[in-house]
Amino acid sequence: MKITNAFRWKENSLQPCEIRVKDGMIAEIKNQMEEVSGEEVFDARGALVAPGFTDVHIHLREPGAEYKETIASGTGAALKGGFTTVCPMPNTSPVPDTKENLKNLMSRIKNDAVVEVLPYASISLGQKGESLTDMKALKEAGAFAFTDDGVGVQEASFMKKAMQNAAVLGMSIVAHCEDNGLAGSGVVHEGEVSERLELPGIPSSAESVHIARDAILAGETGCHYHVCHVSSASSVRVIREAKNAGINITAEVTPHHLLLNESDIHKDDAMYKMNPPLRSEEDRQALIQGLEEGTIDFIATDHAPHSEDEKQQSMRKAPFGITGLETAFPLLYTSFVRNGNWTTGQLIEWLTAKPRKVFSMSQRTLEPGQPATLTFVDLYTEEEIDRHRFLSKGKNTPFHGAKVSGIPKCTMIEGHIAWEGWNK
Ligand SMILES: [Zn+2]
Repeated sequence: MKITNAFRWKENSLQPCEIRVKDGMIAEIKNQMEEVSGEEVFDARGALVAPGFTDVHIHLREPGAEYKETIASGTGAALKGGFTTVCPMPNTSPVPDTKENLKNLMSRIKNDAVVEVLPYASISLGQKGESLTDMKALKEAGAFAFTDDGVGVQEASFMKKAMQNAAVLGMSIVAHCEDNGLAGSGVVHEGEVSERLELPGIPSSAESVHIARDAILAGETGCHYHVCHVSSASSVRVIREAKNAGINITAEVTPHHLLLNESDIHKDDAMYKMNPPLRSEEDRQALIQGLEEGTIDFIATDHAPHSEDEKQQSMRKAPFGITGLETAFPLLYTSFVRNGNWTTGQLIEWLTAKPRKVFSMSQRTLEPGQPATLTFVDLYTEEEIDRHRFLSKGKNTPFHGAKVSGIPKCTMIEGHIAWEGWNK
């Protein structure tokens, strides 16, 4: 098959590109190539072609909360968003905290997933922060890394032991940083918004105190330590200092923390409730700077689907989280690339090469010998985000109605069209 009429990001610009695919692999890639008679031709309609994106932080909700999302629906959403590798968090029921539970999860993935799914295992049994899991057995069963995402690991000595064990195995500890005592029963950022809406607040320190503690422990144990969804300026500062001190620390930021701040919350609306919360404009600017300078390594969505009923409740009661897989690229492209702040290449790198490098996954590039696992993005047509058209079961997003371009229109896995959404 020959892919024609595409553009790739090369040498700092968009260049016309044609790709020859053989046996699911990229056989040839050039600005223009000869046609072989009788060859099947795939017209990319002027789209940007990029390696399929990688998201190391999503929630698939299966097993245990299939009314929110399933492996099938969540990976369908990933395909539509241009993601071909995703890593689901272990806060499911049961938790993948034993070899058996992880193997059960892997067999569900094998049956239902439409993209590559690399699941995390938990740090503690039941994510309770009391007993460590058998990391060796979980690694052998195929765990991607270890995390108790959804909750913070409260005890420093417990985290240290987890890091020691992970370091011996050459595995990463991935942390949702939240000190329960400081976070209390907060539902929004402690600051302007918590005062204005008279809602309990979560201070930035609830996050940054854990990062500071863990950075020191990572330095002591030599463990690779990765911080989930960084949200505050103080956290960026701590990570920057830790990196400067030579500690093996990496970090991610979500699209919503890059795009929104507490002032975007106009009323008690649970579509804006996520953990960590949307913080101040100063925090948002620090996150953007942190990403641009490399203190924050890449972008992950923290795709967190919930049911309509759950999200229609007050922020005091509704669960934390918003969906992200189907909106990430267009939102970021529209807000940061179209206005010239970032290049298309930077955004692709933060969604593919960087996360893969941090977690030592094989790189995905547009080169011969690579799988033809590709995302095609229409950079120009403007559309409104319509949450009712999500493939995810979770329709919970604060971005409904946002006008965006940079919309993924087709995703190919090893040369096969896995999803297509071109306008007729
Ligand atoms: Zn989390």
